[in-house]
Amino acid sequence: MRKPVIFCDFDGTITINDNIVAIMKHFQPPGWDKLVERIVGREISIKEGVGSLFSLLPSSSKAEIVDYAVNACQIRPGFGELLDYCRRHDIEFYVTSGGIDFFVYSALAPFAIAPDHIYCNAGNFEGEQVLIEWPHPCDEHCHNHCGMCKTTIIRRFPRDQYKRILIGDSVTDFEGAKLADLVFARSHLIGLCEQLALPFYPFETFFDIIAKLEEQPNER
Ligand code: MG
Ligand code: ZN
Repeated sequence: MRKPVIFCDFDGTITINDNIVAIMKHFQPPGWDKLVERIVGREISIKEGVGSLFSLLPSSSKAEIVDYAVNACQIRPGFGELLDYCRRHDIEFYVTSGGIDFFVYSALAPFAIAPDHIYCNAGNFEGEQVLIEWPHPCDEHCHNHCGMCKTTIIRRFPRDQYKRILIGDSVTDFEGAKLADLVFARSHLIGLCEQLALPFYPFETFFDIIAKLEEQPNER
């Protein structure tokens, strides 16, 4: 039998909003909106874009930035229940986030997820400007300059041993969705899956996902 494993995005998936955009909208460093346009238009990679966005912010504002980001993270309903469901049914659960450690770990602190099951980027406030570090880069199979590479992580769980389940909301989840056996999508990821005729279940809350998981055939 294949063991189920879930790869769950953070921004716009576990949380209601996109936290990087929320931080930029709040602090308004000059040039941030142009950079976001270039990321969305895929003129620059996620890695280059996110790194450049944070380099617009001075490290001296660390306390304000962390405080704002942590408070801005609103968790989507049913997340705790999905984690309970996974524990009861022996489903491995990983957070695969292109977000930054200082808000990802704080927002997830109440949920008792093992730290090595959370993948994200790291914020370094030691220099003049905020520097983003990338501990989980693309492997030799990915050339997208993801920053935090979701497909690299998914590939560590071979398809013949694992039933790979992806939960996500946007373009950064699309390559992972192509590798998954089961996709739960909301927002932009729905349109992307439709374009490629990739099967998916739409969701708004994690209760929708629990309901669908209950219906899945048991592969044992
Ligand atoms: Mg997202
Ligand atoms: Zn990659």
